Amino acid sequence: MVDVAVVGAGPNGLAAAVVMARAGLDVTLYEAADDIGGGSRTKELIEPGYLYDVCSAVHPMALASPFFRDFELSQRVDLRLPEVQHGTPLDQGGAALAYQSLERTVLELGVDGPAYGRLLAPLLARVDGVVDFTANQLLRVPKDPLAAVRFGLATLDQGTPLWGRRFREEAAPALLTGVMSHALGSQPSLSSTGAGLLLSILAHAGGWVIPAGGSLSIARAMADDLTSHGGTIRVGERVDSLDQVRPAKAILLDVAPPTLARLGGSEVPERYRHALEAFRFGNAACKVDFILSAPVPWLSSGLAKAGTVHVGGSRKAMAESENLVDMGRHPAEPYVLVSQPSVVDASRAPEGRHILWTYCHVPRNSTVDMAEAVTARIERYAPGFRDVVVASKTTTAAELSAYNENYVGGDFSAGLLDLRGLVQRPVVSPVPWRTPMPGVYLCSSSTPPGPGVTGMSGYHAAKYALKDIFRLQVPGLGLGL
Ligand SMILES: Cc1cc2nc3c(=O)[nH]c(=O)nc-3n(C[C@H](O)[C@H](O)[C@H](O)COP(=O)(O)OP(=O)(O)OC[C@H]3O[C@@H](n4cnc5c(N)ncnc54)[C@H](O)[C@@H]3O)c2cc1C
Repeated sequence: MVDVAVVGAGPNGLAAAVVMARAGLDVTLYEAADDIGGGSRTKELIEPGYLYDVCSAVHPMALASPFFRDFELSQRVDLRLPEVQHGTPLDQGGAALAYQSLERTVLELGVDGPAYGRLLAPLLARVDGVVDFTANQLLRVPKDPLAAVRFGLATLDQGTPLWGRRFREEAAPALLTGVMSHALGSQPSLSSTGAGLLLSILAHAGGWVIPAGGSLSIARAMADDLTSHGGTIRVGERVDSLDQVRPAKAILLDVAPPTLARLGGSEVPERYRHALEAFRFGNAACKVDFILSAPVPWLSSGLAKAGTVHVGGSRKAMAESENLVDMGRHPAEPYVLVSQPSVVDASRAPEGRHILWTYCHVPRNSTVDMAEAVTARIERYAPGFRDVVVASKTTTAAELSAYNENYVGGDFSAGLLDLRGLVQRPVVSPVPWRTPMPGVYLCSSSTPPGPGVTGMSGYHAAKYALKDIFRLQVPGLGLGL
């Protein structure tokens, strides 16, 4: 008899399965797609020899997530650190650049450098406390209350219409808003600011690493650990009902809340079913991947060394673009998130060629191909970009939704990221990973701490399943164990 069934081999399902198998339990992991990884897959999307991350590409939490730290991810995967963590080209020329060194960043930011430093340095000084606070259920007493207070104050400072108070020029606010806009939603807002501040300090802590070979290396490291501890992975097996994976004593579901309602059938209590079915999803992404014959000809040479580039102009322009998406519209000049893996990983493309990974935000369920808008946006700050594009491929929001059923309507955050959506994920509870069905746990990013390749939703769910059902402690996850 299988002790544990895990449904969904995304980073959270894999993390949950690793923890359960490490505790000595018999684990089977079921994945609907033909391969593991969920939002952490790498594929030859356009032509053979060109390796694209289908979803996640950049990993600010790879060195910071408590799960990945315990798992010693950095010793299992070749995590590459670009010289520039992220950058934003500026309308007036030049670029705002974030280096791992906060001091260097402050120096190069110009007149607002010290204000940027004063905002982030107190958080950076207590980065572990900030990570503990944000990588968990928010409704709990934080381990480091001072870190949580500092984080709350900084979020208030930058998350309201008074966000411009501390800055005089464009560079520092544009740098920050480029990061805040990772979290889909209106601007300024407390939720996107919180996410942006966390990501900003992580750029100055361990950095925003890019795995050699692509994000699949992270999923593979977890899958290898799982199988070496006796776990079984069954790909190409969609689970349509809990009965399909019974008689497992514990079932951990890396699925969207409406899927849980469907899988549970009549077992799901009425009130909980209502919460799952009424779960609010956010807007979506339209992804555009490129093959290039040369690196992007950025006007600002610093951007050529950046792992990630946020293209969107000024803070005001980025906020306007995000607010249009929030109103259900497609911006003509979208904010574009660009990852340049070729900067640190030559293995992604044949010699002399480069890959470029981009996406912009669009309303959910959008079928609009944003390739031209994305290309024009990059061309604005890199004249000649069109000339180096050899081929491109668009994945619309509707296609993203079909690719991974957790991204309902193309919402890659697996749930709206406003304040309510952070606390009610999917229900307001001290242990939101537990469901009212005995032995059944939700472990996808529709639970805290939310989106990103962190493994934390899986880690939390597994911790409670171990305690509730098997009376077991969380096992060691390191390589030597
Ligand atoms: C375009 C894009 C860019 C992104 N960029 C980044 C980034 O750079 N950095 C970052 O950290 N994060 C990024 N993310 C977000 C990140 O990928 C997700 O937050 C993360 O993958 C969520 O992990 P998960 O395990 O909860 O779910 P997923 O990764 O979505 O995995 C869920 C898995 O469960 C499977 N599944 C669902 N239902 C069933 C079922 N009934 N039966 C069997 N299997 C099922 C699915 O097929 C899927 O494989 C990005 C996402 C997208 C879409």
